[in-house]
Amino acid sequence: MKKFLTLTLLLLTTCSGFLLSQVRFSTDFDSGSIGNFKLIDSVWVKRNASDSILTLSYLIESRFDPLNPVDTTLKPSARWYHFRMEGVKDKQIFLNIKNSEVIRPIYSYDGINYQRFKDVENIYKGSVNKIFERDTVYISHFIPYPYSRHKAKLLEWKEKPGVKHDTIGHSTLGLPIEMLTVTDPLVPDNEKKRIWIHGRSHPSETPASWHLEAMIDQILSDSPFAKELRRNAIFYLIPFINPDGVKGGFSRSSSTGVNIEINWDRPDSLTMPEVKTLKAALGRVTKEKPLDLLLNMHSQISSSVTYWIHTAESTTADFLKEQQLLSALTINYTPFYRPQDQSFSAMAPRYAEGWVWDRFGEKTLAITFETPYTYYNQDKDGPWVSTTNLAELGYSSLLSVSDFLNLDKANRILIDANEIKFSHRNWDVSDNPSNIFFGDSYLIAKKEGAQIKYKTHLKEGVYTLYLWKVGPTEKTYPDDTNKWVKKATVIQRRDGNFSYKIKSSNSGEKMDAILLVKESIPK
Ligand SMILES: [Zn+2]
Repeated sequence: MKKFLTLTLLLLTTCSGFLLSQVRFSTDFDSGSIGNFKLIDSVWVKRNASDSILTLSYLIESRFDPLNPVDTTLKPSARWYHFRMEGVKDKQIFLNIKNSEVIRPIYSYDGINYQRFKDVENIYKGSVNKIFERDTVYISHFIPYPYSRHKAKLLEWKEKPGVKHDTIGHSTLGLPIEMLTVTDPLVPDNEKKRIWIHGRSHPSETPASWHLEAMIDQILSDSPFAKELRRNAIFYLIPFINPDGVKGGFSRSSSTGVNIEINWDRPDSLTMPEVKTLKAALGRVTKEKPLDLLLNMHSQISSSVTYWIHTAESTTADFLKEQQLLSALTINYTPFYRPQDQSFSAMAPRYAEGWVWDRFGEKTLAITFETPYTYYNQDKDGPWVSTTNLAELGYSSLLSVSDFLNLDKANRILIDANEIKFSHRNWDVSDNPSNIFFGDSYLIAKKEGAQIKYKTHLKEGVYTLYLWKVGPTEKTYPDDTNKWVKKATVIQRRDGNFSYKIKSSNSGEKMDAILLVKESIPK
């Protein structure tokens, strides 16, 4: 009997030791990343008289990027974590993760379907705990957007009509940096607006890639809106400017440790191949004509959406007004962005935007857009960021780009000052950029009841008519300004002239554009 007991004990000890060692960590896959990790506690906990559970607690350090060799005073970042654990089924696993945020991060049992840890699994700051149901689990800061997904989407996109695919250069490790040029080839290019969008200089910022992917899917779709975008614009799309960084699971740098986002003002010898590639492509694309818009897609830790709007002091008052018009339009089209979330900073030559500003000034609106990892509007009780709502946000972003550059001339008809009939006796014309308006000018009523008439040629359809309420070019502004206000439903029975009259309700009232959004064909 004694002998049997000893053997059982020995077996149990060996067995538990075996189980402990059975949890294996790995990162040998696309965008995998982990720093140091160690088991800090393990204990069998009795859940009831006949059932115990093994509880394992790990201390995990997110991996720091290499020291930036171009400027060794910069502190390396560590945000991205994305690792696989095997042997976790039916164990209670505590993961304390250092050097990064742990705010309802992500897990996946198959590397395809991802979900957030629940609130109750993320009670303690910096840690998650869960009894996993499957033996293998992937843990990450946000839903990964690895290099392989980028390549798969490129294959799909470049087969679409009107898409030109180019390898514009190579990363330090030799991966291609790829650009899609998208436009309707049947419309002459010289009449089109020119829009450049690049993304993912910072590898950890995967929400930015989900947002940009949705935008590209929509630009390439068969919708009437997308067809108008392609008819009236050329899109230069570079979704992955830092493939080495993404594939290698870095946080903010390329494989070399250089943060390529701030590598634009260095001498050639210290400029990374990725940035050289972008500069050369920008040079080719702008040889004839500057871009109208450059969007630089990022994600931020703050739980809100934002543009990084360049101050008037570092640019011009007119440029600030243009940036805030784009920003205000985006606020109009999404519930996930508010005036108080707008961010402001000085234009600086170390960024792509500064490089473009130095060459083209006000002609090109170059700006960074940020999506959060967590939730929107600083509201943790509201929707948490998902690939679904990032896609919705992508559509809102495109609507704002479209109306900002007046691209959708069939379904979203914008009538601005040059198409307004008015009397100079009753209206002053202003170009004061302390207000947000479309184009070069807006009108100020000299008296109550002053009349203006909007005129255009309009195709048959049912339209909703909106009036732009001009408001101040400030970070915060009255709720009823810098927005579209619905004024009427318009039924245009056949193609022909359309006019809309409106009277000022008081002296000093400002009038600007109207927007006719096509809803349907009249019955
Ligand atoms: Zn970034």
